[in-house]
Amino acid sequence: MAENAHMKAAVLVEPGRFEVRDVPKPTCGRDEVLIRIERVGICGTDLHIFNGHYAADKLPLIPGHEAVGIIEQMGEAVKHLEKGCRVVVDINLGCGQCYYCRRNEILNCSRMEQLGISCDGAFAQYMAVPSRLVIPVAGTVPVEVAALTEPVACVVRATRKADIRFGQSVVVLGGGPIGNLHVQMLRLVGAAPIIVSEPNETRARLAQEAGADAVVTHGDQLHETVMSMTDGRGADVVIESVGLPALYELALSLIRPGGHISAFGLTSPDDALPMPILETILRENSIKGSVAGMGEDMHDALTLLSHDRFRTDAFATRSYPLEDIRQAFETVADQSDSLKTSITF
Ligand SMILES: [Zn+2]
Ligand SMILES: [Zn+2]
Repeated sequence: MAENAHMKAAVLVEPGRFEVRDVPKPTCGRDEVLIRIERVGICGTDLHIFNGHYAADKLPLIPGHEAVGIIEQMGEAVKHLEKGCRVVVDINLGCGQCYYCRRNEILNCSRMEQLGISCDGAFAQYMAVPSRLVIPVAGTVPVEVAALTEPVACVVRATRKADIRFGQSVVVLGGGPIGNLHVQMLRLVGAAPIIVSEPNETRARLAQEAGADAVVTHGDQLHETVMSMTDGRGADVVIESVGLPALYELALSLIRPGGHISAFGLTSPDDALPMPILETILRENSIKGSVAGMGEDMHDALTLLSHDRFRTDAFATRSYPLEDIRQAFETVADQSDSLKTSITF
């Protein structure tokens, strides 16, 4: 590769301002692979970064972490992959040495880097990544399906963390892209009933199609619906998939004694929750956080996607070229028929 090779990348220079410009094409280290990006989804986290609510100290940054692409080049130490192979990328890079990395709790490593979040990612023609983060995609899996591996990995992990089992009643607050994937994941693990709260009619319909047993579009009917579908007890688990403090208060009112809340939607850093402590003790309730998906979550997500366990049509319809990334970001919040906006190359 020429020393002065360049590529196009979307650099977020400050909150709200992308510049699509030529930047140096990454070089491929000894134990790295160079990936030619084919498609990358825009995630809620990207929107938080774009708005300056998350990782603002990392700008300027090339965001983008829901990538699928083709291996174009491999470092000399990489033996287990092949050039030309389609791959997805686990974005979580732990230090490898600390207490958390040893326990495979990489997301708690204080020196963790996340590609596209704390360091440069995939809104670019190429990305060089350590080979151990790369997962090959079977040739039969369409690129737009493979591109959902990272968001599906997030719900795989959240489901594991919340220890959701068959026969458990679960409420999902929010029927956006991640809420929709939660519903599908819950269906796979046999949760029942699955109740979704989503005010937007289109997303409510998509949640129903994704397998929800009941979808409530008027918030004031949610409590009654949950109680009537759980013999008056409340739900085993409530998944907060929006990121609003007020919804945690609602969630507390919807869980049964002994039940728990899965904290998932990103809130603003200063958002806090007044907890009814005594009630929490007496009812043995808990709140469990879950963020991102890593390692085996990514592998499991790709396995499920490869075997058509998720309905992905509503995630695949809207895509833009890199040059139109500003326009693409404008559409992310739009709650029409598409659940996902992607950048394609
Ligand atoms: Zn994501
Ligand atoms: Zn570490």
